[in-house]
Amino acid sequence: MDPINVTAGAERFTSNVFLVPEEPVTLVDAGAMPGVEDVIRDHVDNLDQIVITHSHGDHIAELDTIHEEFDAEVHAYSDLPQRDISISDGEEIQIGDERCEVVHTPGHADDHVSLLGEQRVYSGDVFVYNDGAFDDGSFGRTDLAGQSREQLIESLESLLDRMPASTAEMYAGHGDIYQSATGPDELQTVLERALERARRRQPKYPDEWVSKRRLVQPWHPPRAKPRGFHRGGSALPSPRR
Ligand SMILES: [Zn+2]
Repeated sequence: MDPINVTAGAERFTSNVFLVPEEPVTLVDAGAMPGVEDVIRDHVDNLDQIVITHSHGDHIAELDTIHEEFDAEVHAYSDLPQRDISISDGEEIQIGDERCEVVHTPGHADDHVSLLGEQRVYSGDVFVYNDGAFDDGSFGRTDLAGQSREQLIESLESLLDRMPASTAEMYAGHGDIYQSATGPDELQTVLERALERARRRQPKYPDEWVSKRRLVQPWHPPRAKPRGFHRGGSALPSPRR
């Protein structure tokens, strides 16, 4: 059974959160959608573990709630207060019916990991299919403090290097799920395209677009124009994709 994006119906900014219903029943990221625990319960009775790709707020805001609700083991690279088990580069972790390799993929966030399986990759914000910048192979932003495009490029290179030839499905932190079987390209081609775009070392978003995005909603659907732009508004967090 394919992983289920349990935040697909979110009305506020959140990462995608994937529920893998086979044992060990696993959630990849916790997201930021209030009530996500109810959506999880609609599909499964219990949750064995939660694996965090990185600790940006849109990926972990609901971690406390889900952790308490299901008493699931939390696996993370960085030392989060809720962490039960540390994961590091080169380790393997069972996610549902698939054994995945943990690949440390910094650049967008220091503690970012991707999970590479024979069939699927859970790529967090490092490698995504579509976002406001590109429609068929994109990568996480690196323009905020503490981020590095050079590191992100190296991370994409190691993903390309270590991804099994059989891997054909991408479950990323934002945007759509991509499956080679139904899409126009092999997943490896999509990854090569994302890497080639990252290597141009150009801003992912035009400057004005970025500054507006910082003040308004942290996330817009692809190609949407910013709406409700509040000049000087400061209550909303910075986007962190
Ligand atoms: Zn992020």
